[in-house]
Amino acid sequence: MRFRRTLPPAAAPLTLQDLINGFHGLIRPEREIHRFSTELRTSFQTDHVFLVSSGQAALTLILRALHRLYPDRDEVLIPAYTCYSVPAAVVRAGLKIRLCDIDPQTLDFVQRKLANLLEKWQTGTSRILALVPVHLFGLPADMQGIRRLAETSDIPLVEDAAQAMGAKTTGQFCGKLGHAGFFSLGRGKALSTVAGGVILTEDKRLGQSLASEIEALDKTGSLDALKQIFQAVSLICLLRPGMFWLPKGLPFLQLGQTVYDPAFCMARFSGFQAGLSRNWKQRLQAFQSARAEHARYYAKRFQEARPDSDPLLQKCAHWAQNGIRYPVLIPDAARRKQLLDKSEALGLGLMPGYPESINTLPQLRKRFQGQAFPGAEQTATQLITLPVHPYVRNRDREQIAELVIHACRSETRPA
Ligand SMILES: *Cc1c(COP(=O)(O)O)cnc(C)c1O
Repeated sequence: MRFRRTLPPAAAPLTLQDLINGFHGLIRPEREIHRFSTELRTSFQTDHVFLVSSGQAALTLILRALHRLYPDRDEVLIPAYTCYSVPAAVVRAGLKIRLCDIDPQTLDFVQRKLANLLEKWQTGTSRILALVPVHLFGLPADMQGIRRLAETSDIPLVEDAAQAMGAKTTGQFCGKLGHAGFFSLGRGKALSTVAGGVILTEDKRLGQSLASEIEALDKTGSLDALKQIFQAVSLICLLRPGMFWLPKGLPFLQLGQTVYDPAFCMARFSGFQAGLSRNWKQRLQAFQSARAEHARYYAKRFQEARPDSDPLLQKCAHWAQNGIRYPVLIPDAARRKQLLDKSEALGLGLMPGYPESINTLPQLRKRFQGQAFPGAEQTATQLITLPVHPYVRNRDREQIAELVIHACRSETRPA
């Protein structure tokens, strides 16, 4: 355990004032929940907004609601490299996971492979209920390209904008480009109310179907409310770099780990969470501008160091405004390990991406035997992310850029 300044990999800081607002929400839950959903509806100009306990609950409910409308379809097509909450939500909804490989240089579907998978649908050998593009780390998936492919097959698009609240692509908000979309309000996302999920849709039938799914959910119990208060206080105290060494050193907190667990809690959004969301617009904007400035700095440094910049670097530079973590590929495993060890020693908040692609997750491996997802597996072994949150100081990012440039120097890059 190190007792010195340690950056978290991602952060959407909560303040004491947010906590006080949270308590107001405890006192007047209905009013605060109504306020937040109305503000979201207006800001994102969408017909239906639903608030739930988490991003994975949001995805599960969207999929269940779709399944009600298309009972003979039971497969969900997701990227082979993504947050483990995505396959967990598919399984929780009682549906089957289908994977499409991703390109490490875009962190998005390989469109050629996506086209092949969707073609099978047209020949009647597949039963895809939904296609789920993910805006990983806030970098937008190519929604236009994906939509073109999906349209010919009449497959609903469910946009995973869990990491992309407030992010824009081609002039529109992420989360609004499919039949339904969702944001996560978990810790480590663009904006946090400790935990939470926001569903957006403009589709009337889907909206009705979702309303009855949400109707059936339990309200947050008082024990869960207490847990949320405890978590909010912990976040306020421990997320700051001066304290982060403490939670980071406690393995039972499983910080930074993403676990695959379909048995997650599904409940309504609580009054406390709604209270925490007050001032969300100003907070989100402030976070975004800090993140954009750090991301632009990294992009500039890396472009200077490597004029033959790779597509991922170009994508990061272009979407600096969107990112909640800054992804970099380190093609050499030994160097990646070295880099992560150094960051650990210096408390710089570098993180590997998700350690496994979905097809190699121990709990799911069997289902994908005989299928190959080379892009996803390569990404799992090469990706790291750099922190861009408001706690990052200029001195930190200089140090981080130096380390990364050093690790990539004299590198033979993959074809
Ligand atoms: C975090 C995340 C989710 C799930 O959100 P939770 O609020 O943590 O349940 C889903 N998809 C992606 C891409 C995520 O990063």
